[in-house]
Amino acid sequence: MVGLGYDIHRLAEGESLVLCGVRIPSTFGTVAHSDGDAALHALTDALLGAAGLGDIGEHFPDTNPLYKNADSRQFVEYAVKLLAENGLKIINIDVSIVLENPKIQPHRAAMREALAAMCGLPLNRVSVKATTNEKVGFVGRGEGVAAFAVCQVEEV
Ligand code: MG
Repeated sequence: MVGLGYDIHRLAEGESLVLCGVRIPSTFGTVAHSDGDAALHALTDALLGAAGLGDIGEHFPDTNPLYKNADSRQFVEYAVKLLAENGLKIINIDVSIVLENPKIQPHRAAMREALAAMCGLPLNRVSVKATTNEKVGFVGRGEGVAAFAVCQVEEV
């Protein structure tokens, strides 16, 4: 089975920027109830989606004060655990980040390592890619960061 996830967060001056669990030095960051890690939110939805287990908003409502400034790694780890409980094994994950600035490339290795640890996967089953939006639209104007994720799972 495969799962797909997508997320977007608005960017603003003075906020922190965390993607794939890695803090990225930047003068602007995501505006969000949690830590605003769009990549981990997309990945959580991909994992839940592969198992037909709903979505991140259902499991972690942003109206819950418990998730204020939450470390989004807990969402991924929760989904990984839920998949295991449902007899599913993750084969691979692939994440694409769409962001105008700063460049993701210097952080890509750390991101892959963080995702591998969260998902219990070897590095060669974890992919992180990044692209700009070619200055088009709200992501292109630097107003937001978007992320897509897919994963493949199989029954154990
Ligand atoms: Mg989100």
